[in-house]
Amino acid sequence: MDLIDLHAHTTASDGSLTPTELTDLAQEIGLKAVAVTDHDTLDGLPEALARGSEIGLEVVPGVEISAEFHPGTMHILGYDLDHTRPELAGRLAELQEARRTRNPKIVDKLTSLGLEITMEEVEAAAGGGQIGRPHFARVMIDRGYVASTQEAFDRYLTKGGPAYVDKFRLAPTEAVAVIRKAGGLPVLGHPHSLRLDGLSALEGLAAELKEAGLVGLEVYYPEHSPRMTRDFLALAQKLDLAPTGGSDFHGAGKTGVELGRGAGDLSVPYDLLAGLRKKGTNRA
Ligand code: AMP
Ligand code: MN
Ligand code: MN
Ligand code: MN
Repeated sequence: MDLIDLHAHTTASDGSLTPTELTDLAQEIGLKAVAVTDHDTLDGLPEALARGSEIGLEVVPGVEISAEFHPGTMHILGYDLDHTRPELAGRLAELQEARRTRNPKIVDKLTSLGLEITMEEVEAAAGGGQIGRPHFARVMIDRGYVASTQEAFDRYLTKGGPAYVDKFRLAPTEAVAVIRKAGGLPVLGHPHSLRLDGLSALEGLAAELKEAGLVGLEVYYPEHSPRMTRDFLALAQKLDLAPTGGSDFHGAGKTGVELGRGAGDLSVPYDLLAGLRKKGTNRA
């Protein structure tokens, strides 16, 4: 069976491998395709696409957009984007600006909590890529304030935590629409993180997003229990959404998650990408 991974990060956001390294790793482990889905940025795509054509590996140009949602976290994935379209880059620039405004405020909060860190250290941890909370966690570990990324999030950085600072996000339907406008296929990422009560709430939300252009639902994901996976698959079928899956690989930035294999038992067949593309065509 041809296996793929439709969810992976690079140094353009909070992954630890460069786009070239990620593409090489995908080929090394025998994947047939890998999607690069960095948070709110397309910066890793040109390099990954170039490397893919060089070594003969299919790189799917993607993105993972943060959308406004409560109580949980909503991420909209986009695939097969034309990353040169200005509308998408323009909307993402607003999200990047919101991060630049937020980041020094997190430094201030941490400092007032007695954890002294500087913006320069966080920038160095991000290595020139876009800054995310995992980079703050990295600095906190290096300074000896916490023992792990998990501890940094649990005690300080998690949504609602003492060092959390909210930032501007797109409305969910806007995130879906902007991906469609760039010729892409929007997929609702890891539905468990929405923290919705019951499947019918998810059904209502997914149906609404489908009206806006949603094409798929991320069903296979390391943090989904077998029960969730079954339920999400049934829901995708009910709503005529394509089921997709991926590891959410971040390299060293997220321990215990391997490219293509997730926590060890993930297996995403190429057919799911073909199915997503077919639904996208039918709906265009
Ligand atoms: P940001 O993009 O700055 O909002 O940071 C969000 C990123 O932090 C996510 O994409 C994950 O990579 C990471 N993250 C979020 N929550 C946690 C958590 N509880 N533990 C570890 N990493 C997390
Ligand atoms: Mn991340
Ligand atoms: Mn996500
Ligand atoms: Mn992700």
